[in-house]
Amino acid sequence: MANATPPHHPFWLAGRRETGADALEVTAPWDGARLATVGVPSASQTEEAVAAAAGVADAFAASPAHLRAAALDHVTRRLGERADEIARLISAENGKPLKWARIEVARCTSVFRWAADEARRFNGGTLQRLDADAPGTGRLALTRRVPYGPLLGIAPFNFPLNLCAHKVAPALAAGVPILLKPAPATPLSALLLGELLAETDLPAGSWSVLPVPNEAMPALVQDPRLPLISFTGSVPVGWSIRDSVPRKRVTLELGGNGAALVLADWASDADLDLAAQRIATFSNYQAGQSCISVQRVIADAAVYDRLLPRLVAATEALVTGDPGLEATDVGPLINEDAARRVESWVNEAVAAGATLLTGGKREGTAYRPTILENAPASAKVSCEEVFGPVMTVARADGEEAAFAAANASSFGLQAGVFTHDLQAAFRAHRALQVGGVVIGDVPSYRADQMPYGGVKDSGTGREGVRFAMEDYTYERVMVLTGL
Ligand code: NAD
Repeated sequence: MANATPPHHPFWLAGRRETGADALEVTAPWDGARLATVGVPSASQTEEAVAAAAGVADAFAASPAHLRAAALDHVTRRLGERADEIARLISAENGKPLKWARIEVARCTSVFRWAADEARRFNGGTLQRLDADAPGTGRLALTRRVPYGPLLGIAPFNFPLNLCAHKVAPALAAGVPILLKPAPATPLSALLLGELLAETDLPAGSWSVLPVPNEAMPALVQDPRLPLISFTGSVPVGWSIRDSVPRKRVTLELGGNGAALVLADWASDADLDLAAQRIATFSNYQAGQSCISVQRVIADAAVYDRLLPRLVAATEALVTGDPGLEATDVGPLINEDAARRVESWVNEAVAAGATLLTGGKREGTAYRPTILENAPASAKVSCEEVFGPVMTVARADGEEAAFAAANASSFGLQAGVFTHDLQAAFRAHRALQVGGVVIGDVPSYRADQMPYGGVKDSGTGREGVRFAMEDYTYERVMVLTGL
């Protein structure tokens, strides 16, 4: 993908291509190759996109569902046809191995397919009699779902296509115009999604893809014509957005330091082999740059000593290197600053008494998959979000201690619990302070149609196509009298 004079990509303003006054350079995290320059919208171009979204909002909300569904079907089909090319683009701009980029394209395809289906069935409530109380005698009620207005969707770098899809597809399905703001490091996948949207009959103004510079974001966040904000990204930025616009409807999908719990009954050789393989894979997939990657492994004392060597072996078996190669499991971090930060956090933990079981080496933007034992609770690798290929392992004396250790976090996104015991599964589901509990697997499982989101510092609101559509709309009731 490297190019001496990299291609220039215009952005999408109200459904048409535009070149801004400024340009942003996109480089490959793996080898620093210059991939492209991307147009950056000026203040007046951003204003035009907001005005277009606000102008079309009522008509778009009233547009027939079958037309919106047909547009989403088209994008679904085109994602399938261009899957290989899109996976290579994701891999190049983000640095994630091709095999993970292919999975991201497949998931994005299913997000659009779900959105097309949901657009067809998304509707208000049924007719209800209100006469259970005397004043309701002779009255009926019905509801319709009404968009709050245009959505500002803000996306992070780590799933440059699918986390854009999680904003765009439900918005269009619900008749909500969207301004999509991709991450500065990875705008190319979002702009390619714009190409597919531009092939549809969606009305001008119903969508824009705008690589707005971070400095211009606070004004956009404040704009009263954008009553909905859906943000996926880091904790401080997310909560500062919410605090700055208390009257807006804000969804925050933020960070985590996901725990994988291995309970005492998960004890056969096959069980432990499976847990080790799943944990090693999902601690390090996308170089740990996933909000639900495994950061903390909490194993019951009954299985701990047999799990540990398996975890080390499974981690060391991962193929690290060039993300463009089919065999690679773990690629680079998004940039060298990120890799240096991870390196410094591991060094801090080791200086504070942690034992390095494997890894702990940086080469440029790449960091070796790393396991730390006995990391103090106060070390950043224990209590913050590493967002790198690092796991801590700890022993727990019994199930309650394991649940307490998992809950000893300011985050609450998802947890994984390896157990065969149905009762223990229900106890975990009740006890763990997270948005989702995955039984028999790592916390990193996400189906794009299920409700997904966090508690505590990890966010507020839910994504998942149907749940996002509900968040972007409200039920307006109509009461009929004299019936
Ligand atoms: P980030 O917070 O740096 O950036 C996210 C987006 O916000 C980018 O588009 C960025 O340009 C924009 N932004 C920056 N400053 C802004 C401001 N003042 N106002 C409005 N927008 C602004 O996050 P990142 O580094 O791109 O992504 C990594 C983070 O995202 C991690 O913390 C990760 O856990 C989180 N994440 C969460 C989920 C989830 O679903 N919970 C999924 C993926 C990533």
